[in-house]
This record gives sequence, structure tokens and C-alpha cells, in this order.
Amino acid sequence: MMVGSFFQRRLSKRLKNMKNNYIELNKSTWCPGCSNFNIQAALVSAFSELKLKSHEIAMFYDIGCAGNACNLYKTYGFHGLHGRVIPLAAGAKLVNDKLTTVCLAGDGGAYGEGIGHLIEASRNNFNITLIVSNNRLYSLTAGQASPTSKKGTKTKSTPYGVNKNALNPLLIALSADASFVARGYAYEIKHLSEIFKQAIKHNGFSLIDVIQPCITLDKKNTKEWYDKKIYKLDKNWPNKDKNKALIKVQEWDECIPIGIFFQEE
Ligand code: SF4
Repeated sequence: MMVGSFFQRRLSKRLKNMKNNYIELNKSTWCPGCSNFNIQAALVSAFSELKLKSHEIAMFYDIGCAGNACNLYKTYGFHGLHGRVIPLAAGAKLVNDKLTTVCLAGDGGAYGEGIGHLIEASRNNFNITLIVSNNRLYSLTAGQASPTSKKGTKTKSTPYGVNKNALNPLLIALSADASFVARGYAYEIKHLSEIFKQAIKHNGFSLIDVIQPCITLDKKNTKEWYDKKIYKLDKNWPNKDKNKALIKVQEWDECIPIGIFFQEE
């Protein structure tokens, strides 16, 4: 049984009423059991708990598996070009600042083609939320190396292994002055939903990097592999201390922290 499917079934009861508000019952193109379903469950739960109405939400979708959620939400939405989800969302917010503006992207679009926009969104503190499904691959195009692929990873595009260190998007965002920087895990749905809630309420740019194992293309960095390493930041974590955040977001190999590393108004 697929783990994601299990979560979906378990959540389906709780989400039954919310589905009518936020979820389009279209057929998804995601693989059965994809952990993007879990991210959707967490986001829908956050919308519901914040008592947002569908017409108050505008969602912007990048290209890739994450962006293919474009027909799954019953909100305003725009499916843009690869890596360009931030300027689209920032433009919409500029025109109508009452909208809750959420971007869904993958690590390829957000940290590859769109990295310049991530830096500018951080520096300008656009009041939008960027959720990145980070599976450390270009999954929709069948598994090429992305900017967050670990050095040495062999993929179709890197048969001899990636020859450079993985980019740390949280470190880049913090260095560029982002005012809300967090990491979540697609298999910690309740925790993830709480981060989404805080991010949406945050008055400024929020980046949530979500570890989203690709169950189809990545047989190494699996749920089981991440489960052994992931831990939640302590509830007393000093998330106003940028220096501590800059160090904490670099913890990765043995232990991987999740939670809100930094937030300032
Ligand atoms: Fe999900 Fe991976 Fe399938 Fe894409 S390829 S839908 S990320 S499981």
C-alpha cells in the first residue's frame, strides 16, 4: 500500500467538508501515492482553519509536478511559465492586496529558473507565500538533477554524478533578507499545515521549502530515509534570531530540522 494513499484515505474524512470549499474534484496527474497530495491536504486544512473563502485566494502554479495542482483547487488561479510564479503572484497582489496569494512550485522552477525572483521576493518582502515541493529532482521531465540534488547524485542528466554542491534555498532566502523562512515535511501534515497557516498570516514574503520525496523516481531519498533524519524545531526555538537561523538551516546530513527558522515583521 502506498504511504501517500494511506494518508489520503485517513484525511479524506476530515477534509470532506473542506473539499467543497477548496478542492476541485478533477483527476490528478500525480502518481498514485505522490506526497504532493499530502501538501495539498495540509494547505486545504490551513485555508479552512483560517476561514478563508475560495474567492479570497489566488494561487499561482509553476511548471512541474507541483504546478500540476493547477486544476485541483477551487480558487482563483494562474498556471504560468517555468520559474516565473513569483512575479505573477506579486503582480496580482499589487493589484488586489486583499487576496491571499499562494504560489506552488518545485525545486527546479523555484531554485533553478526562478532563483532570481526568489532573491527579489525576499529583498522586497512581497506579501505572498511560496510553497516549494522539494524532491531534489526535475520530476515531471523524468528525474534530471535539480539545483538541490546532492553532489554525486546520478541522474539521466548527470550520468557521472552531480559535480557541484547542492544549493541551500533557505540560506539564500535568509541572506536576501526574507522575513519568513521555514522547512516542512510532506509526511508531517499537521505540522506542515501549521507552518502554512503562520506563513499565510505573515505580513510579508514567506518561503516554505517542503521536503517532498518523489516515490516514483527517487529510490534513495525515500520517506524511510527522511524519517530517520527529520526532527522538529523545539517549540522555544528563537525564531527572531537570524544568526541562529543562518546556522540551523545548514544542518542537513545527519539530522534535518523542520519548522519556522526565522520570522520578523
Ligand atoms: Fe509525485 Fe514524483 Fe510522480 Fe511527480 S513523478 S507526481 S513528484 S511521485
